[in-house]
Amino acid sequence: MSTPSGIAALKHLDLDGHDLPPSPAPSSPSNGRKYALATELVYTDSGDQYNASSVPIYQSATFKGGPGQEYDYTRSGNPTRTALERHMAKIMNANRALVVSSGMGACDVITRILKPGDEVVTGDDLYGGTNRLLTYLKTHGGITVKHVDTTKLDIVKAALSGKTTMVLLETPTNPLIKIVDISGISSAAHEASPECIVAVDNTMMSPYLQNPLDLGADVTYESGTKYLSGHHDLMAGIIGINRAELGERFIS
Ligand SMILES: *Cc1c(COP(=O)(O)O)cnc(C)c1O
Repeated sequence: MSTPSGIAALKHLDLDGHDLPPSPAPSSPSNGRKYALATELVYTDSGDQYNASSVPIYQSATFKGGPGQEYDYTRSGNPTRTALERHMAKIMNANRALVVSSGMGACDVITRILKPGDEVVTGDDLYGGTNRLLTYLKTHGGITVKHVDTTKLDIVKAALSGKTTMVLLETPTNPLIKIVDISGISSAAHEASPECIVAVDNTMMSPYLQNPLDLGADVTYESGTKYLSGHHDLMAGIIGINRAELGERFIS
């Protein structure tokens, strides 16, 4: 007979009571749209021509048609990956997400913007693969890598200078579960060098528990292989960025 009053309200309000339209676009505090995580997790909008409820998987490597169309070659772009990137951007409070084949792939994309002579400040307890990649960049790429105890803000501050190009953090660290002050270090890094890129490996927390972009980081990445997937059945790496210009640098 009568509609319970709560149902009408739920149609329009998200769990935090925001009166927002459905969420096909990345939501982030930085663009003034922030939905409850529970909303973002279940809401997907693939723009599918048949309104499929689950995102269709496009296994095609190539797409017929001429230049200027949205997709032509899957390495450059694929509708399924686009849907995943948009979904991840929402969950990571990012304006843009890039999906690659592993967490180390994400770390490689981020560190690839470094040039010979650049200086990286990072932790003294890092994921083994990250440590090996930084050692490779140091010995083959002419990049200076300073390993410091990132649990101590003063020690990190002393290592920062106008020459610091990137600060690469993990928190909690893998394997020793050390906790790092992302916002304190981000502020100090940007003060020391406004161009400095603060990158945070958020694998150990997942976006469910921590969003480094909200804490002042410039870029965050996840090994999708770990908690983000949670089922030991896939490998992926996800990069989240809020600055369009930085996103372009990672894909160019
Ligand atoms: C596993 C892991 C990575 C690398 O991710 P892969 O998907 O295995 O390439 C990076 N950082 C941390 C903290 C990890 O645990």
